[in-house]
Amino acid sequence: MDAAPSANPFGEGSAGNWRRFVASSDGSGNAPAEASAFAVHMLNMLCPPTLDVDIVSHCNLNCAACCHFSPIAEPSFLSPQDYARDLELLARVEDVGKFFAAICLMGGEPLLHPELPAFIRITHELLPDARVRVVTNGTLLDSASDSFWEAMLEPNTDMLITPYPIGLDYEALEERVRARGVDVSVGGGLSASEEENYFLRTPLDETGSQDATESFVACPLGGHTMQLLDGKIYPCNRGALLDIVNERFGTSFAHEEGDYLALGEIGSVEELDSFRRTPRPMCRYCASSIAERIPWHRSSCDAEEWLMRPDERFHPSA
Ligand code: SF4
Ligand code: SF4
Repeated sequence: MDAAPSANPFGEGSAGNWRRFVASSDGSGNAPAEASAFAVHMLNMLCPPTLDVDIVSHCNLNCAACCHFSPIAEPSFLSPQDYARDLELLARVEDVGKFFAAICLMGGEPLLHPELPAFIRITHELLPDARVRVVTNGTLLDSASDSFWEAMLEPNTDMLITPYPIGLDYEALEERVRARGVDVSVGGGLSASEEENYFLRTPLDETGSQDATESFVACPLGGHTMQLLDGKIYPCNRGALLDIVNERFGTSFAHEEGDYLALGEIGSVEELDSFRRTPRPMCRYCASSIAERIPWHRSSCDAEEWLMRPDERFHPSA
């Protein structure tokens, strides 16, 4: 096996568009299509994963069904010191910086963190081969600090602005960011158009009675957007962050050892790659088979945005 997964076969920046295409039954990117979920999963497996780091738990947009659970998270900030400690452990793995498509500093909304420039610097210092990406909803860019813009000019640093139908002129915003010399793109599979912007609501089943393998292969997150959290790497954001749901709704989603790799115990990038490609025990919580595309809207923070509704409950073998 290669040391790192193969590059995106559809060209730089186009994987999101392909995912939108195959995730629709008519190819328009608009219609629900459960049957294509497996195709999205397979496309993701062809591309190198990102390593996502939530430097802020909360967000100023509060999108319904956010898979980082930001609308229901207690506001919190990761400390640069804790981040550096984790990254030092990760950096012991040979070629790990090149293994990930990018180390994504995100959240929540990362520009809410007053020390965002320090996170960019730390990543470059400890993982000099890695690409550093700031993933932002763009709403705070016009008031960002000089030190942020300076850090964004470090080599191998870029920005992904994820658009939402909130009346922001993303084209003009992208031009302003590019005029500062920053490598920027707008997209990530989302759109500023109300007709096209949807979120995937995958209900969480507290009973854990879903088929973990079926859930995993129908999941667009697993093994593609890996998550660094508290000294561990998880295959996905949603699974890693289940404690936010527990704290908010009093649920009892639990992690097992097989759900993550402890940073100090990762021997090679091959181990990471194999880990990302296989279902985890926590996949039994995700009802991927009844995931639904919902139009983007602000969260009301109701449990039903994330948890299975009574009318959705079914026996997996029925
Ligand atoms: S902008 Fe992103 S992090 Fe913020 S609530 Fe929306 S999906 Fe979640
Ligand atoms: S727990 Fe498994 S099925 Fe759920 S989002 Fe993560 S990888 Fe996908």
